[in-house]
Amino acid sequence: MEKNRIEEFIQFCRRRHLNVTHQRLAIYQALLNSTEHPTAEDIFRTIQSDYPTISRATVYKTLELFEREGIIRKVSFPHETAARYDANPQRHHHLFCVQCHRVEDLSHPQLDVLPLSKKALNNYQVIDHIVHINGICPACQRKKRA
Ligand SMILES: [Zn+2]
Ligand SMILES: [Zn+2]
Repeated sequence: MEKNRIEEFIQFCRRRHLNVTHQRLAIYQALLNSTEHPTAEDIFRTIQSDYPTISRATVYKTLELFEREGIIRKVSFPHETAARYDANPQRHHHLFCVQCHRVEDLSHPQLDVLPLSKKALNNYQVIDHIVHINGICPACQRKKRA
């Protein structure tokens, strides 16, 4: 599964005439391996040991490039200044733990349909919407009880 996504990534870059460098591959792989929706800083720290010469600026710029190309998504969460990145390009929503700030993907067809009239939407033409659910994750609930 993951191998396929790396292969798809390489094919996509070739079609777009983007160089597939070791560093770009490492950045994409680090994002694929994480379900935490990491920040650019998190990814920088993850790959630093394997790529000691990589600069923070390269990681930031590469993630921005991937986002512009539609390979990954940038997501922002309330009360957080740094944007996070998401390797899941499929339509999905998010569960956010207000205590430990973990983010989980949430897919459900019912969330993809907005039961709102044009009037309720102030005549906005909706492009898309992402449902963001704030809550307390099971691990934090257990800590609370302990
Ligand atoms: Zn939590
Ligand atoms: Zn996500």
